[in-house]
Amino acid sequence: MEIPSLDVFKLGFVGAGNMAESIARGVAKSGVLPVTAIRTSHHRAERRSVFQSFGFQILESSGQVVADSDIVILSVKPQIARKVLLELKPFFTDDKLLVSIAAGIKMRDLQEWSGQHRIIRVMPNTPAAVGEAASVMCVGEMATEKDKERVVSLFKAIGKIWTADEKFFDAVTGLSGSGPAYVYIAIEALADGGVAAGLPRDLALALASQTVLGAASMVDMSGKHPGQLKDAVTSPAGTTIAGIHELEKGGFRGTLMSAVIAATNRCRELS
Ligand code: NAD
Repeated sequence: MEIPSLDVFKLGFVGAGNMAESIARGVAKSGVLPVTAIRTSHHRAERRSVFQSFGFQILESSGQVVADSDIVILSVKPQIARKVLLELKPFFTDDKLLVSIAAGIKMRDLQEWSGQHRIIRVMPNTPAAVGEAASVMCVGEMATEKDKERVVSLFKAIGKIWTADEKFFDAVTGLSGSGPAYVYIAIEALADGGVAAGLPRDLALALASQTVLGAASMVDMSGKHPGQLKDAVTSPAGTTIAGIHELEKGGFRGTLMSAVIAATNRCRELS
């Protein structure tokens, strides 16, 4: 049987912060690319040493990173994306793919500032740090099937990825971008409830966190609708339906929906 050859390409990061580190580590750990294929430049000394410690290449400037990469991930803060891309414009050529993870920066602006037309925009989220990101990508008109496949392989190394039209990106930010924070609050509140009901704090927090993880895995792996799973655990006059009644009285569903809508609207205002 013929073993398919590894698709090795050079991956450069402009902006070596937290998200770049999560992606670079995930990509290297999963074997999508060898560490020698991953490079960045040394904008800040402490980030340089983090990247160096994993064996990634550290080049002298972001210009060199672009010149020496097949795929360039723009991973600086959105506020400086314009300035950085305008400076890097001379280094972009048609054979390169620009991947932007800068929140709220539109494809049209990325094209104008970088002069690059092969672009894929991706919105990951912070669980990338533990290999559980929910990412959404929007593929620019000039990006090829191969570009798309490569980007999917990169972001699958840090979690899951879906494709959506750019018009959905503000809502993606409101749901999966901000969502981890909503769930942290839910976990904290569940633990507080456990403590109020008499559990030791450590046990309450561990149970709350594992319960959220387990419930998410049930939805993900069973293929069942969450309503179906909820019905399956609510026996008549039982404990769970008593708890659910309180959630409904407190407007739990409506509050979560409003949170996603408010974050989406705020994202629209900012971009
Ligand atoms: P971060 O602050 O950790 O990283 C940004 C890095 O860019 C820093 O290391 C900084 O030293 C470097 N930098 C600053 N100016 C630079 C320049 N001129 N040239 C090169 N590098 C420069 O931020 P982060 O959380 O990693 O976010 C990076 C990007 O990812 C942002 O655009 C953000 O919107 C996007 N994003 C982040 C998340 C998230 O959950 N953290 C989710 C989706 C998208």
